[in-house]
Amino acid sequence: MLTPNSIWEKSLKSLETVVNVYCFQAWLENLTPVDIVDNKLVLSAPSKMAYAVISDNYLDKIRTAIQQQDLFVNDVDLICEEFQSDMNRIPKPTNVEVAVPEGVSLLPKYTFDSFVVGDSNKFVHAAARAVAEFPGVRYNPLFIYGGVGLGKTHIMHAIGNYIKQFNPNKRLVYTTSEKFTNEFISALIPSKNNTPNQYSNMQAFKENYRTADVLMIDDVQFFENKPSVQEELFHTFNELHNENRQIILTSDRMPKDIPSLEERLRTRFEWGIIADVQPPSIETKVAILQMKAEQERYVIPRDVFFLIAERVESNIREMESLLSRVSLYAKMLNQDITIELASESLKDYIDHKKVQMSADTIINATCKYFNITRDDIVSKKKTKEIVEPRQIAIFLILEFLSLPLASIGQIFGGRDHTTVIHARDKITNKQIDDAKLAVQLKDIRNMINGN
Ligand code: ADP
Ligand code: MG
Repeated sequence: MLTPNSIWEKSLKSLETVVNVYCFQAWLENLTPVDIVDNKLVLSAPSKMAYAVISDNYLDKIRTAIQQQDLFVNDVDLICEEFQSDMNRIPKPTNVEVAVPEGVSLLPKYTFDSFVVGDSNKFVHAAARAVAEFPGVRYNPLFIYGGVGLGKTHIMHAIGNYIKQFNPNKRLVYTTSEKFTNEFISALIPSKNNTPNQYSNMQAFKENYRTADVLMIDDVQFFENKPSVQEELFHTFNELHNENRQIILTSDRMPKDIPSLEERLRTRFEWGIIADVQPPSIETKVAILQMKAEQERYVIPRDVFFLIAERVESNIREMESLLSRVSLYAKMLNQDITIELASESLKDYIDHKKVQMSADTIINATCKYFNITRDDIVSKKKTKEIVEPRQIAIFLILEFLSLPLASIGQIFGGRDHTTVIHARDKITNKQIDDAKLAVQLKDIRNMINGN
């Protein structure tokens, strides 16, 4: 079984061979594996000192050790308990995303007031305002779609909070497609103690949703491939819509792009208005950061906002976590936040979307240089014309980007990290006395750098 403990124990064994024994005992052995989140092993440092030393010196080694154990877990996330408890004493540290139970109920902090409007979201904002003010009257359903972390859930909660405040008699039901599905499934299962529970459960389930004045369902893309749930949703939808009750849906895609969504449900999703949230411009990103900083009472110079905004492609949640990372780092060192400190604290951060793009740039340059196709380079083909360019591309990706080995393996058709290591070592050694290869590498580097 994949547990934080088992992965960490094995990682320690391999770290022991690469770290000097005193440092190993003083720092690494005292880390506690606490969780696995987003493919990262979360390690807790016992003190601020340990946190600082490990952050500055051992993260790369730890990451490599973890990658050798497991393909799924390929990175490390270092936390510090002492520091967390400090944070808790600071007034109102609503630490951005850490423990928000999404999909359970409306979050009071997601309001229209705390939503920054820019070109990327002004359309959805206007539609949401109209729906909040006149639920069930205009735009029914309101279908909000857009990429991860762009504010869909926030805007949906904002509508809910607005109605709750100005229209308190309306019965709001907020759910996620996941919760709806789980409830539906458990309503189907007869209870063990022989009461006529199956029926009454289903009855209760239906009643809950069909008596809503406003029904909000987050992330409806997860309804794909669930015909019986879709059928239930279809009837719920009709009943509510017939009575002019408001329906609000979010999704990461347009209805037409959700595979295996029943046609009749798809058309219904498209009955009202479809509003998309676009990735924010740099100005909007900075405005959002500024607002978050004020909420959290961080004192931050403006150029730091730009630094963070430029680091992240579009995901606002990601931006928020960089903001708290910068502030955490400053508190730990007991210094003011400056641009130097911010760059230092973000040096390990990788925006996976950006990295993905850069990996593409490297692959494209390599393919172009050798006149082969992208399909070939990521394929399983073992001919010499393909193998060496593939190894070169891998070598250069490692040189340019600090990308986990397993992710590189993924890009190259799901190979494992040993293949990646092999490719790197092969090219590293060969270039030493192979002048032709050295020139090729130089040319491709120039292409990547746009020279
Ligand atoms: P999604 O549901 O689209 O994945 P969320 O609604 O969860 O994204 O937003 C992610 C984070 O970004 C939340 O903390 C949210 O408050 C914040 N956020 C997104 N858009 C805005 C905005 N326009 N103004 C302020 N905060 C925003
Ligand atoms: Mg969401």
